Formats: sequence, C-alpha cells, structure tokens
Amino acid sequence: MKPAAFALAVPAGIEAAAASLAAADARAMGGGQSLGPMLNLRAARPATVVPLTGLAALHGVEETAAAVTLGAATTHAAVADGRTPDFAGGILAGIARGIAYRAVRNRGTIGGSLCHADPAADWLTTLTALDAAVLTTRRTVALAGFVTGPYRTVLEAGEIVRAVRIPRPAPGARWGYHKLCRKPGEFAHAMAAVLAGAQRRLVIGATGGPPILLLGDAATRAGAAEALAFADPVARRIHLAAVDRALVEVGT
Ligand SMILES: Cc1cc2nc3c(=O)[nH]c(=O)nc-3n(C[C@H](O)[C@H](O)[C@H](O)COP(=O)(O)OP(=O)(O)OC[C@H]3O[C@@H](n4cnc5c(N)ncnc54)[C@H](O)[C@@H]3O)c2cc1C
Repeated sequence: MKPAAFALAVPAGIEAAAASLAAADARAMGGGQSLGPMLNLRAARPATVVPLTGLAALHGVEETAAAVTLGAATTHAAVADGRTPDFAGGILAGIARGIAYRAVRNRGTIGGSLCHADPAADWLTTLTALDAAVLTTRRTVALAGFVTGPYRTVLEAGEIVRAVRIPRPAPGARWGYHKLCRKPGEFAHAMAAVLAGAQRRLVIGATGGPPILLLGDAATRAGAAEALAFADPVARRIHLAAVDRALVEVGT
C-alpha cells in the first residue's frame, strides 16, 4: 500500500519546523522507521509531513562530568558504533546494538524512538532506568513522566524534541538490561533494566503501557512481582524472567 497524499514541508530551521507542526494535521518525521510504515499502511494520514533530521539543532552531542546529551536526530547506529560519548562498559552502545537490524538503526533516531513511545522500545525502558530527560523546544521533561500511554507522550502541538540528556551513572554503579524476543532484532515481549548504585532504579518495559519505574527498596524482584499483579500469569512470568536476568547482570 502507498501513503495517502501529503505535503512535505522541509523546514529552514527549528522555528520554521515548530511553526509548520503547530498547524493542524502536520506530523514530524525523524528517521521514518516507525512513521514510514504507518504512512504506508495509512494508519497515519497527515496533511503535512515535516522532516526534522536535516536540522542542525537536532544534531550534535555534549559530554560533561554530569551527563551525556545526544541530539534527537542521533541515529541508533551512531550510538551502536561508538560515534557518540558513552558510559563505562559501553552501556548506550549495548542498548543501541540490540535495536532492530542495521538498516533500521542507520535511519532510526533516539528522539523519534522516544516520541513514538512504543511500549516495547529499547530506549524508552533503558533511558528511564538511567533517569534521562527529554529537552524539547519548550521545556525539559523527565523521561519517567514523558510517556502517558502506549504511543502517547506529553508533547503538545508544535513541540519538538531537540535532545536527550542522560546523567552519568555514579562511579561504581552497575547496569543490567535484558530483553526477551523471539529472534534478534525483533521488538521485545518483555524487558527490564536496572541501575544499581547510589540510587537504585528498576524499569519494566514492554508491558503495553508506559515503562514501570520502581525506586529504592521497591526496585527488587518482589517489587516487580507486585507491580506486575495486573498482568496475566503467562505475561507476568515472562516479564519476571527479564527482571531476573537484568538483576543477575547487576549481581543482586
Ligand atoms: C522492522 C523494524 C524493527 C524495529 N525493531 C525495534 C526494536 O527492536 N527496538 C526498538 O526500540 N525499536 C525498533 N524499531 C523502531 C525504530 O527504533 C524506530 O527508529 C523508532 O521507533 C522511531 O524512530 P524514527 O527516528 O524512525 O522516528 P519516526 O518514525 O520518523 O517518527 C516516530 C514518531 O515520532 C515523532 N517524532 C520523530 N522525531 C521527533 C522529534 N524530534 N520531536 C517530536 N516528534 C518526533 C513522529 O512524528 C512520529 O510520531 C523497529 C522498526 C522497524 C521498522
């Protein structure tokens, strides 16, 4: 199937992009790896598409003692290849390498992935565990409060994600991430990420809704079992298997 006809509004800058997107029925496009199929299936039929990856404001990276900030148009492949700053142990590259396959990673962007808010997206679960924040054209939003439901975020009309700020894990912090899928490169049926150190954060992803964030004493297997009480027994078991394996990786 081919997309319904739409106008392409290539913006000269981020202000022009925001203005175009504020108009009714306009849709931003990042790498097009989720939006493209939706257009082709006519699950999305915007009047106007505004491509963002050509905007300088969405590129670039910044590394400080406190955080790594990645432009929203940073591709999964750039992170997987180590072309962007990373943390000890290559945490970010490890996540990116597990997303889809190379062709998707070459075009898909970190900003597009977060905005798409697929419950099974790797960045959504892992960057919530790492306590990242989304920097938009209007505000800074903690990722923990960014997603309001499946494929839903707090973004308003005309609001563009510029970058993602990821705090540097404290020295000695340990990281565990595990996803379960039928074969490599597929979206996960279950995933869990754990950051253990001065602060302890456990995130359960791919549950069909926003990531479930458990903090401190609740960030344990028992806490996860309680948080998953809503799930049917089979799904609960699979999610807990991902939690168990992530906890094994951090050694607790
Ligand atoms: C075959 C296949 C397998 C995949 N497997 C996985 C997987 O295993 N794990 C995983 O995490 N992902 C997977 N994906 C999704 C992939 O990671 C996409 O790259 C990602 O979901 C969307 O990023 P994008 O840059 O392509 O965004 P697009 O598809 O261009 O856009 C997605 C949405 O975000 C909005 N948007 C994009 N950028 C911005 C911005 N800067 N500001 C505001 N709104 C914006 C768009 O309007 C749209 O609603 C897969 C995709 C495919 C096609």
